[in-house]
Amino acid sequence: MTELPKQIIVNRIPYSVCNSGEDYSYEADPGVQEIRVTTEAAPPRKRQYFMWEIAHLLLTSAGMSTQEADKYHAGVGSVLNRLVVDNDLEFLKCGKTTPSMIWVNGLPYAIQQGDFKELKDEDLGGRITYDTLCIQILENLKPDIKKYVIVHEITHAVLFEANAGNYSSREPFVEAMAWQLLYFLQDNDLSILKPEGE
Ligand SMILES: [Zn+2]
Repeated sequence: MTELPKQIIVNRIPYSVCNSGEDYSYEADPGVQEIRVTTEAAPPRKRQYFMWEIAHLLLTSAGMSTQEADKYHAGVGSVLNRLVVDNDLEFLKCGKTTPSMIWVNGLPYAIQQGDFKELKDEDLGGRITYDTLCIQILENLKPDIKKYVIVHEITHAVLFEANAGNYSSREPFVEAMAWQLLYFLQDNDLSILKPEGE
């Protein structure tokens, strides 16, 4: 079973991952660039705690208050954990083609690329509909901004699936969090976050 990595980059800052020294304990401490998780827990549980703390850092960096982040980070972190485990997100780093489907919280969201008139009329690069599990993206976007737009729509899905209040519809918040999530997914070797043989 995969242990936690020794280091992880969140919000473009490298964090050391170390032992919290107590059962049931996990904490992110930006002041000393540390994420501390109990070593007593089983590896999958440790990874869940670890992703809860990463979620806390991402949510507050996007402008959520600490109080709100305390409320939502476990839900959002659990969905992020599955996002990393259930998908191959390497396409966000290199020239690999965009997948036609992505799993968010166990639900298959189709990614459709096309010349969608409604999107162009509204000057949007992408759109997500939760009922139909569909993410539409303008196919002619340049490669790097297309990656951002996909992660932007995924961010909406993560917040919606995590039942994070009304944050999934707060556009300025989603904008800010999506940039940080894009950096997180690009800056780290995601294979270290995937379980093996669990
Ligand atoms: Zn949006």
